[in-house]
Amino acid sequence: MEILCVGAGLSCAVTARGLAEAGHHLTIVESRSHVAGNCHTERDGDTGVMVHVYGPHIFHTDDAEVWDYVNRFATFRPYRNRVKATTRGEVFSLPINLHTINQFYRKTLRPEEARAFIEAQADTTITDPQSFEEQALRFVGRDLYEAFFKGYTVKQWGMDPRDLPASILKRLPVRFSYDDNYFFHKFQGMPEEGYTALVEGILDHPNITVKLNHSFTRDQAEGYDHVFYSGPLDGYFDYELGRLGYRTLDFERFTHQGDWQGCAVMNYGEEEVPFTRITEHKHFAPWEEHEGSVLYREFSRACEPDDIPYYPIRQLREKALLADYVALAEQTQGITFLGRLGTYRYLDMDVTIREALNVIEMFKDKGAKMPAFAVPPL
Ligand code: UDP
Repeated sequence: MEILCVGAGLSCAVTARGLAEAGHHLTIVESRSHVAGNCHTERDGDTGVMVHVYGPHIFHTDDAEVWDYVNRFATFRPYRNRVKATTRGEVFSLPINLHTINQFYRKTLRPEEARAFIEAQADTTITDPQSFEEQALRFVGRDLYEAFFKGYTVKQWGMDPRDLPASILKRLPVRFSYDDNYFFHKFQGMPEEGYTALVEGILDHPNITVKLNHSFTRDQAEGYDHVFYSGPLDGYFDYELGRLGYRTLDFERFTHQGDWQGCAVMNYGEEEVPFTRITEHKHFAPWEEHEGSVLYREFSRACEPDDIPYYPIRQLREKALLADYVALAEQTQGITFLGRLGTYRYLDMDVTIREALNVIEMFKDKGAKMPAFAVPPL
């Protein structure tokens, strides 16, 4: 079959590769000048540092098949995400672990003591936390919540944590050991030559044609047997029902000679500091040596029509609108919506790949009878 894919990020790249290997012909149109979507990386000409152009991406997964998949196309180097946080004039270790707790409370607690101590700080009257704030108060108590989560979250989401779902905080562990690995997952790493090289590797197949700097319009679907669309769901319908809300990020880039902050990611927990974090990109590639350094101060704000959408907001208003777009999409023939933007979900890279691998199997089974969504967005 002749298939059109819209977007050259992970979703369409993985889907296209699988279908190319099954003998189909794929054309990918991408409006940007590069592949890899928001995980695009680019070596800075002056310093040689591999820059995560749209913000930091760290690969982590429990899914052995996904891990094997990415390792087919790129050499991965071991990388542990060890995040620091500056708050109240001190630097702490994140995610909240025994070091953070002992430093914060000026104590020397052992794991079981710390567990009991934090349980005593926690608000145990909250039995079924619904909001971000309730989840935090239930699991770490008010002091740690206010120092590490409240300000950061107000800046990141532009909303009161009482109005955000508990699921956002569930992304972060609390550990009663000195393990400062940000993620739980079994497999973690960084592609040695960056994510763009990884995606280029995935796309390198004779049945795949990639057209960069090519904006998609619906009439282009003409003549194809099926379309996989990984752009914004509302954008496909020309925003006819209104716009789904996103947060966007602004990066204030600066350079330095030497080592500016000594780590890859420094979060700023206080609301008074206008940015959420500073990333020093050479530390994402600890196997490389660079004298110069490239850093991003990261600011989050509401996404306007010409901005790049990053984080789907998924509040009540957005979910109602999403339901209307899903209904529209389901009435449309010959198209499947994929990925973070196509399904309006907060997706990690490994989940994106897993879903794309499942889409390949589904397409082999259903062909052009593929539904609008392989995973329901609601
Ligand atoms: N978060 C926080 N303080 C931090 C880091 C994260 O309050 O220092 C909250 C914040 O609301 C964020 C969520 O936890 O949106 C998930 O964090 P994660 O690091 O997974 O965010 P991402 O890297 O995807 O932006």
